[in-house]
Amino acid sequence: MNELTAGTLYLVPTPIGNLSDITERAVEILRQADIIACEDTRHTRILLDHLGIGGHVVSYHEHNKKEAGSKLIEELMAGKTVAQVSDAGMPVISDPGADLVRLAIAADIPIVPLPGPNAALTALVASGLDVRQFVFVGFLPKITAKRKKLLADLEKVPFTLIFYEAPHRIKETMDTLIKALGDRKAVTARELTKKFETFDRGTLTSLREGMDVEDPRGEYVILVEGWNEDMAAEEDSAASWQEKALELAKTMPAKEAAREIATAFHMGRREVYQFLIKKLET
Ligand code: SAM
Repeated sequence: MNELTAGTLYLVPTPIGNLSDITERAVEILRQADIIACEDTRHTRILLDHLGIGGHVVSYHEHNKKEAGSKLIEELMAGKTVAQVSDAGMPVISDPGADLVRLAIAADIPIVPLPGPNAALTALVASGLDVRQFVFVGFLPKITAKRKKLLADLEKVPFTLIFYEAPHRIKETMDTLIKALGDRKAVTARELTKKFETFDRGTLTSLREGMDVEDPRGEYVILVEGWNEDMAAEEDSAASWQEKALELAKTMPAKEAAREIATAFHMGRREVYQFLIKKLET
């Protein structure tokens, strides 16, 4: 392979589990780069040792990105080559690197991205969900108001939604998704490229129930089907039975109104009754 170009920032993806998932080009760039900027030097050292590469590693992560970023830009401007990696997968994607890319662009430093492992795309292609259009959401915001707003914005997006989550928060996140998006077709992709790689396909509710039977372990991608015409029709019919039920309840007791609506819309009396009681109370 050609020598690297002086003063260039290389974005180098690394395996998300299976150490063989690294390209020859990525190995060569890691071997030749003057500096390897990584999230966790110990973590990256394990990979480099496996590849038989020494390498000058420096840490670049969320908490030191300002100082470390300026230092890396100085090195790049002085003609050094920098390979940026994260702990796993594509750097920049739910991982550090975006700021460094922006700084490099502002300083007119060439950037060369390499294709390679990424959990979202690996999960998507085997999910069986619609892959023509999708939205990569990544981790949901931790701040409740921001999370709610984002999910409200996503509710009617007609594209497959892809989320990242850590195993200790996955149950809570599934509950949040059910509440915000309703019960939709969904897939969890666990431990991709590793020994216990598992795809579970079902609905958000059925997958969530499965997590009570067997506690979630390992890394997960959650994929959820996008908004579709059936959901729109269901929403329309829900809106119309609700409107009619409220109208009827003005002229007769809630119980009777519930019975009539339940018959007309082929639904459970209890569901209508509970809706009316809740509405009439407020
Ligand atoms: N940059 C990475 C990429 O390109 O996919 C993502 C890093 S992000 C900090 C880590 C999250 O990615 C995990 O919490 C999980 O949601 C997902 N992930 C990473 N590796 C995975 C794997 N082997 N199987 C399933 N999900 C994985």
